[in-house]
Amino acid sequence: MRVSSVASEQWFPPSQLAFYFDSNAWAKGTALYLQTDDIVADLTPEGDGWKLVAQVPEHQALPFTVTAHLRVSDGGNLQAWRSTCSCAVGRMCKHGATLGIHVAMQGHAMLDAQGTADVTEELSEQQVLQRQERALQQAEYQVRDWLGRLETADVAQNFSLPGSSVEHFLYCMTTAVLGNRPVFHLTIKRAILKRDNEWGKPKKVTSEPLAHDPIWRTCMVSERGIFDLFKACPATNSFGSYGFHSAIKLQGLAAELLLQKCSETGRLMWEDGKLLKPLRWLAEPLNMTGTWQAVPAQEASPAGWKLQMQAGDGGVIHGLNEPPIFVDVEQGTCGLIDTQGLSAESLLLLLRSNFNSS
Ligand SMILES: [Zn+2]
Repeated sequence: MRVSSVASEQWFPPSQLAFYFDSNAWAKGTALYLQTDDIVADLTPEGDGWKLVAQVPEHQALPFTVTAHLRVSDGGNLQAWRSTCSCAVGRMCKHGATLGIHVAMQGHAMLDAQGTADVTEELSEQQVLQRQERALQQAEYQVRDWLGRLETADVAQNFSLPGSSVEHFLYCMTTAVLGNRPVFHLTIKRAILKRDNEWGKPKKVTSEPLAHDPIWRTCMVSERGIFDLFKACPATNSFGSYGFHSAIKLQGLAAELLLQKCSETGRLMWEDGKLLKPLRWLAEPLNMTGTWQAVPAQEASPAGWKLQMQAGDGGVIHGLNEPPIFVDVEQGTCGLIDTQGLSAESLLLLLRSNFNSS
């Protein structure tokens, strides 16, 4: 009786399949793979490669018939892949990708089952089932591990793990008033990215998530650096204790670096009530222009001039942080305001003062 020691090993790395599919079919195919556990596949030799015919189910619909031709080197590398399908897409579709991952994970077991076809009488049906079950569990573990690493490596920005509830950090910019001064604050929250690519309601982060919190698995490596930068910024709540604060004032060089890093994750957000809109940090500061406007005399005050400062179009929101920051909600951008050397403090004075003409 042959004892199979390779049933739980990959035939070839499933990541090698990604090369053959467009990113959309590939992402959907990996998602479908994790939801599908009843793929029925038949592997037969064909020339120097293999022919694979399989039924790939999707949700409640009738399964699609996928036919694939592949070649795998002795060293365990995928050298060729071609798949056609009975679905509307027809070729190189997500069902093909799903089948590809299945065969990458189960190929050895499938080849084994074939090689031992005539001696399977020695194995009881029970034993065969147990072996298949073990191989499946192992493969499932491997593919999850691999998907996790793929995502950490940030190979595809829009790649999201299936299973509907993947949590991410959101870095939310909001307006606040400090004295008379409008400023921006930044708050770390966590939210679930739903299947329709919409964000669930953001939740507060009260303390820095522990190392084993699953949320770290869906983050970019740079996001740990963001948490460190947060610790370098003053808390919005001045009574906050030393260490991590989830809501901070944006000031100084740390603020600039922080917004840039958050923007790189694709999850820097403008939060206004229920509105959540992604913001992109612009490296180029926005020019500020000043125009003098005549102010007619009023009861108590004589006629004068008022300096109107403006940066960008009408819809742009200014935060008189130090340094001053703008948010263009319409364009989904933010950045520094070039104040030509004026501090936020003097800018505020200018904005408030009228200059008498007499
Ligand atoms: Zn298909």
